[in-house]
Amino acid sequence: MQSGWQQYVFPVAPRFHITPLIFSHNCYARMRKFADCKSMAPYEYPNAIVFDLDYTLWPLWCDTHISMPLKAHTKRKVLDRYGTEIAFYKDVESIFLELEAQGVTIIGASRTATPRVAQELLSLLHIGEKPAIKYFHSLQWGQGSKIKHISKAAKELRMTNELKQGGFVLYDDEYRNSDVKSINCTFVHLDDESIGLTRTNFEKGIETWKRKHAVT
Ligand SMILES: [Mg+2]
Repeated sequence: MQSGWQQYVFPVAPRFHITPLIFSHNCYARMRKFADCKSMAPYEYPNAIVFDLDYTLWPLWCDTHISMPLKAHTKRKVLDRYGTEIAFYKDVESIFLELEAQGVTIIGASRTATPRVAQELLSLLHIGEKPAIKYFHSLQWGQGSKIKHISKAAKELRMTNELKQGGFVLYDDEYRNSDVKSINCTFVHLDDESIGLTRTNFEKGIETWKRKHAVT
């Protein structure tokens, strides 16, 4: 039984103690809700998709199969000096439009010895209403491992954390480029140069990535 000054202090004291508890509980509930929202996010796409160019997006090597100058025949077809027709593999357009609509970062990585030819091709060939080159957030060129290309693009785009956390996928026809797995980039091998990037192998690649990295 309290008496004297304690009976006046007591009603205040518990409130003083309970209030922080209520506050903590609300905070915790809010944090849980935020965490739940995050874990319920679909994560249907990686943060960034990297595409090789030759025999991934188009059926040729631009440093050996094309003779300059190039001329746009239509928005979907380019002719070289000898009238050789150059176009993307047929599913490239719908895949790029989908990735853009989903806000996925698109990166090009090519070891071609003639980046100027590849850049011109990407400027002449259209996807939707825009030149294809406008869909790329970063284009990386040069000989050597694609580890270098992808790391550089991630740095330029301030996406090094996303790369570390497994948010990148590379589609490429050359198996030697699978070394990008060492930087936590999912590698998707396109092993049939007659079809390159198709809807089927694109989706298979996304499934591979999901199994490894998506939060469910
Ligand atoms: Mg290639």
